[in-house]
Amino acid sequence: MKIDRIDLFHVAMPLIYPWRTAYGEDAAIHAVLCRLGSGSTEAWGEAAPFAAPCYSAESAGTAFLVARDWLAPAVIGGSFQTGEELQQAMAVYKGNPFAKSALDTAWWSLQSNSTGRPLHELLGASRQWVPVGADFGVMDSIDDLLAEIDTAAQSGFPRIKLKFRPGWDLPMVRRVRETFPDLTVHIDCNSGYTLEDLSQFQQLDELQLAMVEQPLPYDDLHDHARLQGQIQTPVCLDESVRSIHLARQALALGSCRYMNIKPGRVGGLTNAIAIHHLCLEAGIPCWVGGMLESACGSAHCAALAMLDNFTYPADIFPSNRFYHQDLADPPLSLSPGPDGTPGVAAPQQLPVPLQERLGQCTLQQATIR
Ligand code: MG
Repeated sequence: MKIDRIDLFHVAMPLIYPWRTAYGEDAAIHAVLCRLGSGSTEAWGEAAPFAAPCYSAESAGTAFLVARDWLAPAVIGGSFQTGEELQQAMAVYKGNPFAKSALDTAWWSLQSNSTGRPLHELLGASRQWVPVGADFGVMDSIDDLLAEIDTAAQSGFPRIKLKFRPGWDLPMVRRVRETFPDLTVHIDCNSGYTLEDLSQFQQLDELQLAMVEQPLPYDDLHDHARLQGQIQTPVCLDESVRSIHLARQALALGSCRYMNIKPGRVGGLTNAIAIHHLCLEAGIPCWVGGMLESACGSAHCAALAMLDNFTYPADIFPSNRFYHQDLADPPLSLSPGPDGTPGVAAPQQLPVPLQERLGQCTLQQATIR
């Protein structure tokens, strides 16, 4: 299918409440939406690197610029039989995985829309439903957090993820563990620590966490391997895995025992599938992470999560968890599994942005023909 039109939108989607992590606070999620047109068929992709380059080296502004000035011109007019061919067309431009992901996820959506086949089938998945976890950012008080966790546990969420940063760390997790001794819990440090904090991570071992996610800097694999050698709790990499190449190195070094795979962070669904397969071969379980995308990007994550080696519950949230109104329609809602466990079904229909809402949220826009 020849790509004959590309529309890019840098959007800011206001959150119901700010999202607080080790690197700061976001009141709105900044993302790049990409519409690919081929004849009368069109499809949408999304990448959400946030407003500032704090989660990774990219921001939505830089991803929009790189996609507009370099990637879209490299892709326009091309016909790509596979995701790898599309990635090859963009490969001369180094890094910038979120920018590439906006185009890659749109290309996969285009394949789904043009063939009429559900996206998860195209990705090679056969499951129709997977469980999801509950996540909690930094809150005003530990009592507030415990109340929220209690609600999530009563609702049957199979695991809880807690943001972890200096001042919201060991005492917070200890209180959670005392209150909920049997819950599956893990923490996400968002690169907030170094090896000098080793003793803190060794103390965490006694709390029987499922994993500690991205404890060390975003550009590190070596120190994570050293840390993993000195603690019992499995290390999970998130920020550090930004390409297939880095995933292969992380596995070879023993930098982690879990991998969080986000399509945006690794350059799109094409690379996410390849990393999933590498982890499967290496015996490392994976789970799908999220960037608080609109329903458009969340549907891509949900389709990806149906692959077999995503064995830990995903970070996929219903639209109403973070947004008064989702940018895309239909909004994402959770579907309970057979025993009532919260989860998501494989998307049968890919959401598309609502025109009026897109207009309200757009900061800048470009069309490449
Ligand atoms: Mg993370």
